[in-house]
Amino acid sequence: MKTTFNKICIYGVGLIGGSLALAYKKANPGVVIVGAGRNKNTLQYAKTLGVIDSFSTDLSQALAGVELIVIAVPVGSIEAAFENIKPYLTDSMILTDVGSTKGSVVACADKILNPFSRNFVPGHPIAGTEKSGAAAAFAELFQQRRVILTPTDNTDFNAIKRVAALWQACGAEVVEMSVAHHDEVLAATSHLPHMLAFSLVDTLSKLNDKQEIFKYAAGGFRDFTRIASSSPEMWQDVCLANASALVEVIGKFQTDLSTLTKAIESGDKQTISNIFNRAKIARDQFSNE
Ligand code: NAP
Repeated sequence: MKTTFNKICIYGVGLIGGSLALAYKKANPGVVIVGAGRNKNTLQYAKTLGVIDSFSTDLSQALAGVELIVIAVPVGSIEAAFENIKPYLTDSMILTDVGSTKGSVVACADKILNPFSRNFVPGHPIAGTEKSGAAAAFAELFQQRRVILTPTDNTDFNAIKRVAALWQACGAEVVEMSVAHHDEVLAATSHLPHMLAFSLVDTLSKLNDKQEIFKYAAGGFRDFTRIASSSPEMWQDVCLANASALVEVIGKFQTDLSTLTKAIESGDKQTISNIFNRAKIARDQFSNE
């Protein structure tokens, strides 16, 4: 089985698509990376930065002769991306994506990509920063990070192996998970923290003395709220695409936050101590893994 790709199209050359282009090029300098998308100026900029070799907004050109198409646009735009590429697909092309939710993406693939949906390997790199765009891309982003693939029963075995090899070449560890389990786990570990960060900073920014609050905010505030600088467009898509799993975990958090609030109100030292100690043990264990 051939494990490398000679020609790849990245549809959406932003932080993740651009970093994948740089990382794979570093591992396989001979690969040709073509950028595709809606915006000539940002694609030209990505080429100038050396993130891609060439680009075209005309998909008949961008997809000519490519072995792999990586969809790296916000999840709310993936359905339209599938519609756009479909006329140019061939049976020998492998497709993958990097979207932060998988249920919505797999449903779109099943609906749109037939008869090529078996060549689609849903993926999600568990790596990122709060920055966006090709200028923020860097080759080391996926080093020692996990990439979750969520193939279905229909997904071609060879395609899964080749997409796994792509991510391994970029320094990542590849794991497989069911679509539903992925969305449940990511709702808790990634989507909920982003909702909390956005919501906290929004609450604080509406307070009258916001200048004072941000002026005296120190390390803890910075650590906790860094991800509130993430792309609003991307996160709006993520929370809507994973709404049911996310609403469920937000509900659990609200219950626990009201327990803590009541304990503070009533001076219940024991409950406060139990919560903080359980959390510290769990966080310390995670940091040492
Ligand atoms: P990004 O830096 O904003 O890049 C998105 C890219 O898609 C840009 O090149 C943008 O270019 C293009 N784009 C946006 N809307 C488009 C549309 N409707 N049609 C065609 N192109 C479009 O975002 P990112 O962080 O790389 O995220 C990309 C994907 O990776 C998302 O699905 C996200 O869920 C997933 N992801 C993100 C992270 C993270 O931490 N950032 C981590 C893992 C997975 P123009 O706007 O110039 O057209």
